[in-house]
Amino acid sequence: MQIAVLALQGAFIEHENMLSKLGVSSIEIRQKKDLKKDFDGLIIPGGESTVQGQLLKELDLLSPLKDLIVNGMPVFGTCAGLLLLADRIDNDTRSYLQTMDIIATRNAYGRQLGSFYIESEFEGIGTIPMTFIRAPFIKKVYGGASPLATVDGHIVAARHGKQLVTAFHPELNNSLSVHEYFCNMVNGSDY
Ligand code: GLN
Repeated sequence: MQIAVLALQGAFIEHENMLSKLGVSSIEIRQKKDLKKDFDGLIIPGGESTVQGQLLKELDLLSPLKDLIVNGMPVFGTCAGLLLLADRIDNDTRSYLQTMDIIATRNAYGRQLGSFYIESEFEGIGTIPMTFIRAPFIKKVYGGASPLATVDGHIVAARHGKQLVTAFHPELNNSLSVHEYFCNMVNGSDY
């Protein structure tokens, strides 16, 4: 199995390190020709959704990536990656890949409370560390999407078919469990 990591901006190296700890090899997507490389799934990292979204458009990556995801390629978006996959962002007019049946709220915890750490339950895994950095939350899931984790009444992780998103950053903690969960989605051993 080989996983692609979108490496335009943000915390992509941290995801590559997590994959390597799991013994999974990764490649980076930086430009359109990288899509010709061989990969079985994609991670969209945290960072700044507006910057990554703009670069996706400028590099002509938005529509080919959307086609791959719609056609069933597994994808895992963290934080800004969640915003890029959301069908709609309720407090921003911009939208990007729009492949996931979720409505997200950007910078949902405000500026002061924007960053925090807790340990909480993730469906199918158990209690895991969750680091939030100017995070969004999921205001609504519908259609094919269902929640996987809820913190203080807000949905912070969800799944829609082979799409997985977390509002927090599993790549910044020691637990490999969410990456392992995604790898199981990729190799089909989750059903
Ligand atoms: N606040 C950022 C955004 O709107 C997301 C923050 C993150 O990815 N840690 O894109």
